[in-house]
Amino acid sequence: MHPSDKLHEECGVFGIYRREGVGVVDETYHALYALQHRGQESCGMAVNVDGVITCHKDIGLVTDVFTKDRMEKITDGRIAVGHCRYGTTGSLNTANAQPLLVNHLKGAMALCHNGNLTNAAFLRERYEMSGAIFHATSDSEVIAYTITQQRLRCASIEEAVRASMEIIEGAYCLVIMSATKLIAARDPHGFRPLCMGRIGEDIVFASETCALDAIGATFVRDIQPGEMVVVSPKGLEAYPPLVSDRKGLCVFEYIYFARPDSVVDGVSVHEARLTAGRLLARSHPVEADVVIGAPDSGLDAALGYSYESGIPYGIGLIKNKYIGRTFIQPEQKQRAASVRIKLNAVTATVKDRRVVLVDDSIVRGTTSARVVRMLREAGAREVHVVFSAPPFRHACYFGTDVDDEGTLIANQHTEEEICRIIGADSIGFLRMEDLDKLTGDVHLPMCKGCFNGEYPVPPPVRMQKHRFEIPLSRQKENENEE
Ligand code: SF4
Repeated sequence: MHPSDKLHEECGVFGIYRREGVGVVDETYHALYALQHRGQESCGMAVNVDGVITCHKDIGLVTDVFTKDRMEKITDGRIAVGHCRYGTTGSLNTANAQPLLVNHLKGAMALCHNGNLTNAAFLRERYEMSGAIFHATSDSEVIAYTITQQRLRCASIEEAVRASMEIIEGAYCLVIMSATKLIAARDPHGFRPLCMGRIGEDIVFASETCALDAIGATFVRDIQPGEMVVVSPKGLEAYPPLVSDRKGLCVFEYIYFARPDSVVDGVSVHEARLTAGRLLARSHPVEADVVIGAPDSGLDAALGYSYESGIPYGIGLIKNKYIGRTFIQPEQKQRAASVRIKLNAVTATVKDRRVVLVDDSIVRGTTSARVVRMLREAGAREVHVVFSAPPFRHACYFGTDVDDEGTLIANQHTEEEICRIIGADSIGFLRMEDLDKLTGDVHLPMCKGCFNGEYPVPPPVRMQKHRFEIPLSRQKENENEE
């Protein structure tokens, strides 16, 4: 498990297909920049120049990896795919960075994946037993291998992807490029978002609509759960969804992951967060002087709370946007310092006031405790904390970094205890029954597994990362415990 105190985004994927001419590198760069919030560990793009695919990827933010020098050296092409990654399986190294480029008997393929498979460990073992060698530790390589293996038997890349969708299980949004085609596919539950847009006759796919806006593309539609869309010289072809009961869109996309200016499956993320705030104000009314939001994902919900309660909205916390995300720094000492540098209270807003602080969720609780302390030190008379999500009590296996529920504060403590631990005057959570109201008129059955322990697909029997990322000493401890 990642040791920091926030749930982490998984990955962002992007693909572009030009009907004619070249010009995909700048668009891919800008789209990845817009999707940066979904993953800040590594990024990359693969560019197709007349059927020859070259891949450029590294550890770091989009602006770190794609410097002006590097951009000038990339030959522009007609098709490209891009990826930014926060590793939920697979450790931080360039081997796990994407796109994954595979050169095989029938050609080449570049693959970008968002999500987590639930049968990756099982498939990988099966492939390894039959002689396969893997270079990285992520489940995305298992998908690439599955598609490659199917490609050797199938007449086309799209048939191979379709066949692979019957084999892989769990959460996946894929954007895949071959010598002549661009393919987008979404798992049958639709855990993660994936949409399609147009720039004139050219087609683009992206994790979120904010990436379409960034490159001047017009939104066409969402890729349906279980659906595959293929763009080729023949045109655009949509393959109907595999059987799906659509139970899987991650509700955290609305609460925290996606950018507020994105529209996911027909629902504005900003509106969903406003609604969460309004619902919180109804279920957890507080006598207070000011409502503030924890930047950035608590701001929209704080506004909703303010609208509904009539308590004025204020800017109470300022986030320093120019430092790296806290989780990038590995040492505990550095993490604590970076949180203090990252957030500061606005004394003029909170001094001598009763404050309602709206945050998106509480994972381990350490950040909430620090923020409450910070507000009190700035003179707040009372601090009431409300979360725009229900208590996060269970592990997630579908593309976040929380797979060990033992470290979740809401799994180990009652609400009263959490209130005491973080030092708040009162706390409140969004009610489970209010989650479905976030999408307004759009009926969208969603995954709420981390709140109620009921998952749309069975959790993995074993995790692939446990094979490669647990130090020998801890493996021995586990054996002894067993
Ligand atoms: S378990 Fe929670 S975080 Fe994971 S996909 Fe479901 S709703 Fe999202």
